[in-house]
Amino acid sequence: MCREGAWLMPASEVPGQDPVIRRARQNFYMSIFAGLTVLPVLCQALLSETPPSGPNENVMTDFKWALSMSDSDLFDLTCCTLCPRNCRVNRAAGNVGYCGEPADLYAARAALLKWEEPVITGPVGSGAIFFSGCNMGCIFCQNYKIANTKAFDSSKHPAGIRVTPEHLSEIMLRLQDEEKATNINLVTPSHYLPVIVPALERAKDNGLTIPVVYNTSSYEKAEALKRLDGLVDIYLPDLKYVSSALSAKYSKAPDYFDIASRAIAEMVRQQPWPLFADGSHSLDEEDDADDPVMLKGVVVRHLALPGQAEDSRRVIRYLYETYGSRIFISIMNQYTPMPQVKGDPELDRRLSDEEYESLVDYAIGLGVENGFIQDGKTASESFIPEFNGYGLD
Ligand code: SF4
Repeated sequence: MCREGAWLMPASEVPGQDPVIRRARQNFYMSIFAGLTVLPVLCQALLSETPPSGPNENVMTDFKWALSMSDSDLFDLTCCTLCPRNCRVNRAAGNVGYCGEPADLYAARAALLKWEEPVITGPVGSGAIFFSGCNMGCIFCQNYKIANTKAFDSSKHPAGIRVTPEHLSEIMLRLQDEEKATNINLVTPSHYLPVIVPALERAKDNGLTIPVVYNTSSYEKAEALKRLDGLVDIYLPDLKYVSSALSAKYSKAPDYFDIASRAIAEMVRQQPWPLFADGSHSLDEEDDADDPVMLKGVVVRHLALPGQAEDSRRVIRYLYETYGSRIFISIMNQYTPMPQVKGDPELDRRLSDEEYESLVDYAIGLGVENGFIQDGKTASESFIPEFNGYGLD
């Protein structure tokens, strides 16, 4: 793993290839958005202990269509056990559980995004579709404006526009055909899988050929992810914590590591090696050309939190010792204290340069070669895109 300049690049353990350490130029804005997706877990302070549920007039009209594509109980939203929260609410009737979303799919934005890791962004931008709601509820959520939708009512969704499965597939095709997106980037999609799976199948039947990126907190069931086998090309999961005390405290998910590590294992099972557009399985250190676009693989993101160096080291160590160079590790420094953590003795400050540098040094010392790091002051609320329904009409 090399540093200086930006992100660390890959070496490969692909049989028959010598490991290569490469240093790539850093995109200053690289993971700004990644933080947003890592953070959907955060709005915990805004969420209640028990999943609220109540009558709602907004019955999902496309629900039967979506379910017709699936025979899995996991996808039965009339008693939702889709994710580890197991709320058992009837989302098809408009009730909401921990994620705050009924069975109808709501999204907040569908547009090119240029702040992802360069191999994801590509020459034009990643075609990011931001879904409303989140099943994590992290207290520090950088995405809280769309992640916290508990206030949902039948007359007005607080953070999104309703999108039918058919229209979702059309949006994917528009991002590919008209905006020339590098890929389709599904941001915080797990609670909408019963709608997204048939929408993806429909889009592929109608000509979607660019890679599909699944951008998740990782707090989801491995058996649900199996439904994505053959549909998703690149997994972009977070691994936020190892400590159950920390995940309980910040995300009310004491089982986070157990769940997330199983989910990531399923992702790596589906995409066991990186593959780039030039046919290689690694990035070439000596190549000054633009980095090749990733076509397949797993990039695990870790957002370093202030004051949690020990747990961050445990995260990186686990990933490296478990997967070596079969995955990329993206170490992010962009944590930004949001209004909901104002006054919090731990979270109401940014990560110091020293904290981040120490973590990067640790990864390098460990032997990590396939990685990305952020350079510069990427922690800024100003980089959060507008969640105004852009691209959804
Ligand atoms: S997807 Fe939402 S409603 Fe279903 S179990 Fe998870 S948090 Fe609860």
